Amino acid sequence: MIKRNTVQRTLVLEAVNRLRSHPTADEIYAEISKICPSISRATVYRNLQQLCEQGMIRRREIPGSPDRFDHNTGSHYHMRCTVCGRVEDADMEYLPALTQSIADSRGFLLTGHTIIFDGICPECRKREG
Ligand SMILES: [Zn+2]
Ligand SMILES: [Zn+2]
Repeated sequence: MIKRNTVQRTLVLEAVNRLRSHPTADEIYAEISKICPSISRATVYRNLQQLCEQGMIRRREIPGSPDRFDHNTGSHYHMRCTVCGRVEDADMEYLPALTQSIADSRGFLLTGHTIIFDGICPECRKREG
């Protein structure tokens, strides 16, 4: 039982690492069922949750989109294509000072921030001319 769980978790982790595209849970499930058709959606979802809790991957909440999973667990910013919905890392340093700059406002203990830049990806720009 323990062994099977480990194998499944490894499959899920490898799929997130291989896709490298901030895949949704459904995309990860589709990727894994290609090599392991017997795996259930619930198993994939459960392992994604556990990998997040272990800090192996990060869940990214993207407004207007299902949650996505990120192999890159460090703090960084994202760009989202408003046409096709793809999400990529932004080429920009994370700015901890942005959180610190308002840390004393209204009594909140601020622990971080999330920035998602909206735009149109190269493929969609090409398609739209
Ligand atoms: Zn696009
Ligand atoms: Zn990312």
